[in-house]
Amino acid sequence: MTRDPRYDVLFEPIKIGPVTARNRFYQVPHCAGLGHRYPFANAEHRRIKAEGGWAVVCTEESEIHHTSEISPAMESRIWDENDIPALQLLTDGVHKHGGLAGIELVYIGYHGPNRYSREIPMAPSHTVTDSYEPVQARAMDKQDIKNLRRWHKQAALRARDAGFDIVYAYAGHDMSLPMHFLSKRHNQRSDEYGGSLENRVRLFRELIEETKDAVGDRCAIAVRLAVDELLGDSGINSDGEGKEIVSILAELPDLWDVNISGWSNDSMTSRFSEEGFQEKYTAFVKSVTSKPVVGVGRFTSPDTMVSQIRRGVLDFIGAARPSIADPFLPAKIEAGRENDIRECIGCNICVASDNVVMPLRCTQNPTAGEEWRRGWHPENLQGSGSKESVLIVGGGPSGLECARALAQRGYRTTLADSAPYLGGRVALEASLPGLSNWIRVRDYRTGQLDQMLNAETFVNSTMDAALVQEFDCDHVVVATGSHWRRDGKGRQHKRPVPGLEDFAVFTPNDLLNPDFKIEDLPAGNVAIFDDDHYYIGGVLAEMLARAGRTVYLITPASEVSTWTKHTLEQERIQTRLLELGVHISQQRGLSRVKSGQLEIACIYTGRTEIIDCQSVVLITERAPERGLFDALTQLKNAGSLDQIKSIQLIGDALAPGTIAAAVFGGHRCAREFGIETDVDDVPFKREIPWFSEN
Ligand code: ADP
Ligand code: SF4
Repeated sequence: MTRDPRYDVLFEPIKIGPVTARNRFYQVPHCAGLGHRYPFANAEHRRIKAEGGWAVVCTEESEIHHTSEISPAMESRIWDENDIPALQLLTDGVHKHGGLAGIELVYIGYHGPNRYSREIPMAPSHTVTDSYEPVQARAMDKQDIKNLRRWHKQAALRARDAGFDIVYAYAGHDMSLPMHFLSKRHNQRSDEYGGSLENRVRLFRELIEETKDAVGDRCAIAVRLAVDELLGDSGINSDGEGKEIVSILAELPDLWDVNISGWSNDSMTSRFSEEGFQEKYTAFVKSVTSKPVVGVGRFTSPDTMVSQIRRGVLDFIGAARPSIADPFLPAKIEAGRENDIRECIGCNICVASDNVVMPLRCTQNPTAGEEWRRGWHPENLQGSGSKESVLIVGGGPSGLECARALAQRGYRTTLADSAPYLGGRVALEASLPGLSNWIRVRDYRTGQLDQMLNAETFVNSTMDAALVQEFDCDHVVVATGSHWRRDGKGRQHKRPVPGLEDFAVFTPNDLLNPDFKIEDLPAGNVAIFDDDHYYIGGVLAEMLARAGRTVYLITPASEVSTWTKHTLEQERIQTRLLELGVHISQQRGLSRVKSGQLEIACIYTGRTEIIDCQSVVLITERAPERGLFDALTQLKNAGSLDQIKSIQLIGDALAPGTIAAAVFGGHRCAREFGIETDVDDVPFKREIPWFSEN
């Protein structure tokens, strides 16, 4: 296949100060939960993106000095020369494929409580830190400012020595000291670093100038600036101070990397934003600088990218999440294979990984974070050399991914699903408010399966043990999913809740059934008991409220959908539900069900109250759908299934979890299929901290 000429513009080389990017694809700095703790994994994760065609590949935040660190989060460090070898792994990897390596030098300021170093955090003015911790930052004096400028310059020199081509001065996300100086919210100084905007810009200007003096002959100097905080006049905004800051510094850096702040705005999920959602805030930048501009907006469509360039919005297509979901996105467009792009679904499981301090994972790309330790390449799988056939029962995320990857390995695959459609739970959940992008989990995989001659898919095909027995195949993989329990068992109630049998009880499966109509719920109020705490309780409350029902959402947690704090969505979800008039009862458990009434109780005092409702939706726990697997195993053990060499159980049918976990489970099954593994062995390489006294 050849590249569509409409996309030629995306492959033009662009000069950034003293270096040149080979095309317009730019992986902006992003966290990966790897950083200084897992340097080999981090380097390989970034190397693969350069291999996949990204012209620029950046690090995550790189802490420049021990007086400002954000442990236990796994960011990069460039505190002294001991950090150079780990970073060199990354630059060498990126250079190997002709990419430019960028490093985001960060001084976190009051955002980091310095849990590891125990240094007192610093800020423009005395202030509490923004984590809910009993830590305050102290106001910097003139010597502190001089020190900081020296530290930044020394870090820039180390970055150059580590081989970086682009060095950042960072003022984004309200998570960096230069941003705190820029912001009148945080900066209440009365000296030449506070007060007027010119004064508040002073420190940032000095950092940019001094970085340029130090390394500008060899490295491009990039600025990352949040041009809007979505706080109106009380924050930096693109109609006001954001625009003025860019105008003041316009020609100073070699590149402008612009975004919106805080992180929950910048990395907004698809539930709350569309592709290109940052354009209205960042579009002005190119009109005030002649330097190249990079911006983000979950870009996965080459047409949208071209439009950004042609309309003069951006010079570089910036991406964090789309580069995680598909490290080969540029290479695919270049090869005329844009239909093969594994599009980011905007779910922020990747962000959550970093927030809970675990190595990166991604719903769409099961190899993310596994490139080094398991040696998983996002595009290449080891051929099986086998012509054996595999029947996969269940076409949800795990079954689809398993079938796709097995077929890629050369197995003959047949996938059968009882539903009239493929996709399992994503096919249903994608119809919920804001989740339409999630259908990409299915569409990428069915798109790939359709192209493979050794893969067949069947819908409306319920498989039982007898049918499997008749089916001519060498192996069976069971990916039959799970269903939500109807009896209330879950986190709060370890046993079924008595009395539910006399109540109109619904589960998410009922509400997601394509035949479900809102009138199927008894007239009157509906209660949702959410003891799951991820998205489904909140999104069903939204659906029912939008359908005109009075909804009571009861949760033992302190806020609705509490786990979505990690995906940066919680505040938006709670705000939306409150605006829709949903009655929220937090820190309340389900106490009992009695004569058509729901009694709930405070989780601390046990004090009860009655919710007047005519139906309840229980979101507590899911039961694996493992009947087929158990029946097949029984037959096999009885010697009645000798023609079938193996039977495996994967995805939610093994243990219900996230869609990301199901995709990973399907992928892992395919990767390891036919390969001897020993459960006693650690199945991946580990990075043991270097045993030294540095
Ligand atoms: P996962 O997340 O593990 O992929 P899902 O619940 O999304 O699980 O998908 C499971 C799929 O399995 C559903 O589409 C369901 O229709 C299908 N399925 C369940 N039991 C059978 C069966 N006996 N025969 C064929 N398909 C089945
Ligand atoms: Fe996109 Fe979700 Fe993957 Fe993150 S985890 S890159 S948001 S698909």
